[in-house]
Amino acid sequence: MRIDVITTFPEMFAPVLGSSILKRAQEKGVAEIRVHDLRDYTADRHRTTDDAPFGGGGGMVMKPEPFFEAVEAIRGGKPTENEEIVLLCPQGEPFRQSLARELSARRRLILLCGHYEGVDERVREHLATRAVSIGDYVLTGGELPAMVVIDAVVRLLPGALGDEQGAASDSFSDNLLEYPQYTRPAEFRGWPVPEVLLSGDHARIRRWRRKESLRRTRRLRPDLLAAAELSDEDRELLEEIEQEEHRAE
Ligand code: SAM
Repeated sequence: MRIDVITTFPEMFAPVLGSSILKRAQEKGVAEIRVHDLRDYTADRHRTTDDAPFGGGGGMVMKPEPFFEAVEAIRGGKPTENEEIVLLCPQGEPFRQSLARELSARRRLILLCGHYEGVDERVREHLATRAVSIGDYVLTGGELPAMVVIDAVVRLLPGALGDEQGAASDSFSDNLLEYPQYTRPAEFRGWPVPEVLLSGDHARIRRWRRKESLRRTRRLRPDLLAAAELSDEDRELLEEIEQEEHRAE
């Protein structure tokens, strides 16, 4: 996959793109990620990317021309097949694991980072193919959201993680939160690891994990559970959980 980021703060990306899974994915050729300085696509001496809002009011708005120039220079005038141009925007569609998965199937992503009061609306209407928000809060710029999107998307690409199972069982992958994880020591400050995990009985471990995954999602994110596709075994496990909780009351 090819990812291009267009930003006025390109220097923010190096530490994140140069570490951990994102670094390895690029070294392995799983993802090619390029960061472009929006100022390189301005036409004036001062490399201006923002201007005062029409209609008055405080703050500055990012101009449309540099974003259009940048996208057209990076990928040519015509949209490439299976590309997505994402404007990071607090008013966009919520970024979820399902959207990360959808974006991971694209051949090319171009991420547009806003700043100040935001971006001229014509970028959203006529350049971006979608606007995406990473949560209901307002950040200073689109750079951190772009890094969040890149990380979540790239780790889903085949070959990005050493252990493909890891991404498959992650929270949200099937609308459930992941089961609790433990490692050595088997007992720490008097708190033991659940006995089943030391049993070596893989069928019991799988069942325990599924049950704990259901228990957690039911307690912490009932909204997710309501949308999850449940098997007969899941329904059985949920009944057991309800009975256990009833007995504990
Ligand atoms: N005035 C805008 C509003 O109220 O919707 C907020 C602009 S924000 C200070 C500046 C830029 O940060 C946005 O253009 C966007 O690129 C980015 N940004 C801020 N919060 C974000 C979020 N939750 N998700 C995605 N991008 C965000």
